Amino acid sequence: MKKLLFGLVICFAFFLPTQVFANSDSATNLEQTTLNWTYIDGEWYYLDIKTGDKKTGWVYDQNQWYFLNKNGVMKTGWVYDQEKWYFLDNSGAMKTGWFYYYNEWYFLEHSGAMKTGWVYYMDQWYFLNQDGAMSKGWLKDRNQWYFLTSDGSMKTGWIYSYNNWYYLQNNGAMKTGWLYYNGSWYFLSTSGEMATGWYDVNSIWYYSYASGALATNTTIGGYYVNYNGEWVQRTSDPYYVNGILLINKQHGLPSTYAPGENPEARAAFEQMKSAAKGNGLTLNAFSTYRSYSYQGSLYNRYVSSYGQVAADTFSAKPGYSEHQSGLGFDIGGSNSALWAEDGFAYTAEAKWLANNSHQYGFILRYPEGKQNITGYKFEPWHFRYVGNNLSVSIYNSGLTLEEYLGEY
Ligand SMILES: [Zn+2]
Repeated sequence: MKKLLFGLVICFAFFLPTQVFANSDSATNLEQTTLNWTYIDGEWYYLDIKTGDKKTGWVYDQNQWYFLNKNGVMKTGWVYDQEKWYFLDNSGAMKTGWFYYYNEWYFLEHSGAMKTGWVYYMDQWYFLNQDGAMSKGWLKDRNQWYFLTSDGSMKTGWIYSYNNWYYLQNNGAMKTGWLYYNGSWYFLSTSGEMATGWYDVNSIWYYSYASGALATNTTIGGYYVNYNGEWVQRTSDPYYVNGILLINKQHGLPSTYAPGENPEARAAFEQMKSAAKGNGLTLNAFSTYRSYSYQGSLYNRYVSSYGQVAADTFSAKPGYSEHQSGLGFDIGGSNSALWAEDGFAYTAEAKWLANNSHQYGFILRYPEGKQNITGYKFEPWHFRYVGNNLSVSIYNSGLTLEEYLGEY
């Protein structure tokens, strides 16, 4: 318990500078001054042995801080000093770090001062209330909601609470509005709940699956939602943009539209087929024109085999197939087992088509990675005849037909 005042001054200089000046008059006889703990009438005091003076305020001894009130009595428990709370254990030593007291956690800074507000500790954020107690559950701070788990650590990412999903951003703040997560869009209401089913945002209707993921480019109960997830009226009158017939999940054709296979497209295909043959490759246009009713039976067959959600990724509803226009050509190679199969993409014929079909007026209509735009997964076999000049231009742009025509 014995200690030179010299050490005391060093520590005070770091901790409470005002005390340094209070003690500076005794700096000349530092070496001779000694302090000692003394127990009198059930209380501890810290005395200057020479003068009998009782120390008051903070003292540092044996690597611990102690607090002596104005009468020199060593304090235990909570102490309020200079607008901060401190906690002194039963031996009077000041506590630092996490501290559990009457069913609540508190955090005492390195200086011993009780922390309020946010604290970052071991890679986690915690929040201490105005009274210093650690928060759990939902917390509103500066107009943002946060969620603190049962151990007090701030949550990020998805959380299920009160029968709803919520999303907490990397900074812990609850997200509202649109959220892009793992390749899907989610909508979080102004109070943070994840939307499912039909809902409207600024007078536009959207649909989110039970998972919360926004439905895009598909029909839900007969209602079509576009690439943005917006419900839009489907059309069945031929839709032209700059003279180009656009057929997709939004823009279809009437059931009476039955032109048969387009002769110009067929002639272009035959030219392309000859060119491919010159390279030792065989091309087959195994499916070109399809009538409205044939497309209907095809689509229904896929729906009964795979379900509507999956079927919609590769098969068009009747009235919404490019094949009905006579301009859509499904092309395969010599191996008919790979016709309309994903594996076709790896064949020499598919590679040749991808690199050369634009020279003959065709474009690869559903390229890889563009499902969010076209509404269809990669179909290495499906080509659309648009005519020579346009096909070269679209190919060089690297865009889908929707993008090229400004429809996305
Ligand atoms: Zn096709």
